[in-house]
Amino acid sequence: MIAKSIASILIYLSAIAACAQTFATQTAATPPAATPVYEVFAIRYASIPDFPVNALISGADPARKFSIAMTIWLIRGNGRNILVDSGFYRPQFFKQFKVDGFIKPSDAVAQSGITPALKPEDITDVVITHMHWDHADGMDLFPNARIWLQKDEYTYYTGEAWQQPRTHGGIDPDDVLAAVKLNLAGRVSLINGDAQEILPGITCYIGGKHTFQSQFVGVNTRAGTVILASDNMYLYENLEKHVPIAQTLDAASNLRAQDRMKQLASSPRLIVPGHDPAVFEKFPKVSERVVRIE
Ligand SMILES: [Zn+2]
Repeated sequence: MIAKSIASILIYLSAIAACAQTFATQTAATPPAATPVYEVFAIRYASIPDFPVNALISGADPARKFSIAMTIWLIRGNGRNILVDSGFYRPQFFKQFKVDGFIKPSDAVAQSGITPALKPEDITDVVITHMHWDHADGMDLFPNARIWLQKDEYTYYTGEAWQQPRTHGGIDPDDVLAAVKLNLAGRVSLINGDAQEILPGITCYIGGKHTFQSQFVGVNTRAGTVILASDNMYLYENLEKHVPIAQTLDAASNLRAQDRMKQLASSPRLIVPGHDPAVFEKFPKVSERVVRIE
């Protein structure tokens, strides 16, 4: 009886082994899944009028001023709704700056005209390109989102940056606290350096030194690779005239980052600057404040 049971156990085990082998063979023979293709949108949630161009483009005529676009970017596909940057909403910024046509970034996403409509809880991920107030302040508006930040950016602005008076310009203490709280809640992923594919078809690149460790994002789309430069390239004029952004800790590194964007993007047309209102004229409109990058 015992021998019979042992025999049946052995048969059972060898059946499992055969099964596992078949599975392994099938897995090895299955080609790797194709890189997901995403849709990308630019959403304008505010404007800041009379902004001096020489604060954006190194060496520009101090008399030039214009209304800059305050923008977040939405990436959809592969079951995810990813924001690149999160805009601002806390009251202090409305005292410090003249802000036109503001919609809270979470409302700007909900009212974007992109279908199906997205509620704040539908956002799965928020990639923060850098900790400046106008990009990072809204990171706590999306209750289910994972926040992606460069590790060196997070470490520096939650620590050493505050040891000196001039090493945290544009960083708001409330945003630092928000980032720490999100990290304590287990919702922050720290990206460790350059060319990190954080999700299939979505890659973060460091460069530009707009802040201590600012990053930009490459996205696989039907049109090829789109580069969301954020403030590592403020305006199209930076790229066209090969001029560094005015606010950088390292102008040479910023130009190298811009050159690299040209290599990475499938076409220069697909490099999207951080604050240029021309973005909303160049691409097809989805609604008054939203264009589809394609
Ligand atoms: Zn900005």
